[in-house]
Amino acid sequence: MNAVMQDGFGRQIDYLRMSVTDRCDFRCVYCMAKNMTFLPRQQVLTLEELQRLATLFVGLGVRKIRLTGGEPLIRPGIVDLCRNIAALPGLRELVMTSNGSQLGRLARPLAEAGVKRMNISLDSLDAQKFRAITRNGDLDQVLDGIEAARSAGFERVKLNCVVMKGRNFDEVLGLVQYAIRQRIDISFIEEMPLGDVGRSRGEAFCSSDEVRTLIASRHRLLDSAENSGGPARYVRLERHPDTRIGFISPNSHNFCGSCNRVRMTVEGTLLLCLGQDDALDLRGLLRRYLLDDQPLIDAVHKALHAKPLRHDFNPGGEVQVVRFMNMSGG
Ligand code: SAM
Ligand code: SF4
Repeated sequence: MNAVMQDGFGRQIDYLRMSVTDRCDFRCVYCMAKNMTFLPRQQVLTLEELQRLATLFVGLGVRKIRLTGGEPLIRPGIVDLCRNIAALPGLRELVMTSNGSQLGRLARPLAEAGVKRMNISLDSLDAQKFRAITRNGDLDQVLDGIEAARSAGFERVKLNCVVMKGRNFDEVLGLVQYAIRQRIDISFIEEMPLGDVGRSRGEAFCSSDEVRTLIASRHRLLDSAENSGGPARYVRLERHPDTRIGFISPNSHNFCGSCNRVRMTVEGTLLLCLGQDDALDLRGLLRRYLLDDQPLIDAVHKALHAKPLRHDFNPGGEVQVVRFMNMSGG
């Protein structure tokens, strides 16, 4: 199977991030407003529709799929969906991003179903701050989930942390120590202005450079040319070879030139760029052409030609895309 998808700028698109639900058991302050309205059931793709789209995109040349959300692990039937997608001929890897709350019970079944790598969000090691950031989250449950993931047999477990001044910037060094103890990687992410979360993001904005400077005050950092195929830039710690530190800097270091991905919302909208509104409604076509994929394939190719060159977040800026991150498949 040698299909290749290209956008209008010649970038090869082989990575699909699929949101399997817009719902979540947390309400992280950077991702959601306190009171959210979620999609009515009939607007949400069924598991069969998600499977059909995954199959179609792998046929078109997608080699890596990341399931995300919302919280993917609160979608009923998620383990079977993973098993079916992981078995698609031509797919190189199925990976997932989760908040970790359900991993205590699901890590092993997911690894057995064929999920290769697991990214887990962890913004604080202080139970009260953790709850304040996630609004609902229980830190111990997530730490148990991380332990379960580490012993479940995934090829890699990685932590993700969105850094905000006045909330968790003072925890960066503690989180690095935790990653070192766990012998796993950790990425620090700049907050993106997606959706109106009911507070000004500017004052909490923390650049990757500031995070790096803080880590460098404690550890000798070695620049690394390693690239996991994504937007993170990595450094290694001279004395801790098992842990890499990633920096994801959508605001301060634009990485669009090497973009290889598109996103699918759980409504079946293909988002061509996280930071722009360009999109294709695939749900309508899915439900209209139940047995014929060709109209969908034609529409995808046409849409890819309109994939924007880049996003233009301004650091610490206000909302530029009205969509919340839980809708985008972060
Ligand atoms: N619920 C899962 C989780 O939290 O890992 C998966 C979905 S979440 C939308 C995916 C990733 O997006 C998480 O690592 C989260 O920290 C990140 N994220 C959410 N909103 C963000 C924002 N406004 N800016 C930067 N990262 C954000
Ligand atoms: Fe839920 Fe993940 Fe968004 Fe937090 S970042 S509210 S865990 S979807």
